[in-house]
Amino acid sequence: MSVHFLHPRVFKINVGFMLNAGPGTTHDSTFDFPEVRVSDDLALNYLRGPVRMSRTKEGILVQAELHAGLDVECMRCLDPVQLDMQFQIEELFATNPQVAAAFYLAEDAVLDLAPLLREEILIQNDERVLCRPDCKGLCPECGINRNRETCSCAEEAGDPRFAALRQLLRDQQQ
Ligand SMILES: [Zn+2]
Ligand SMILES: [Zn+2]
Repeated sequence: MSVHFLHPRVFKINVGFMLNAGPGTTHDSTFDFPEVRVSDDLALNYLRGPVRMSRTKEGILVQAELHAGLDVECMRCLDPVQLDMQFQIEELFATNPQVAAAFYLAEDAVLDLAPLLREEILIQNDERVLCRPDCKGLCPECGINRNRETCSCAEEAGDPRFAALRQLLRDQQQ
């Protein structure tokens, strides 16, 4: 399957007009991207939501409420799952290097949102996800996907010396 992702340059916004206009200026826009690549290691199925940029004395304050569609793996069976992430951003891009900030505006007044988005999404994406609440996972012995196939591993009594180990493996999957 080939998907054509929008390039990360869509996140590069020239804010020169806001710097010139002075403190108090705001600019509202709405993200509504289909497949979009945020960075080499992060692609989204969609990214949507309102974005406000405000000129302050220190630089440009970015505020946004976004929904992002992200492909992840089910923690039990490793099948792909689409996650709908919601997150809020409130971050200063400082113009003055003397101001303590996580992000600084480049000299060319181009504000690149991609590193900020990447950080927010990867930080939030530490939750463990199931493809469905009752996912049966992979058989710890033969590795089949127990949502789609049945095996007889559990029925075989097996070597009793390994019963405790098998139970341990099952418990870890729960
Ligand atoms: Zn699953
Ligand atoms: Zn099995």
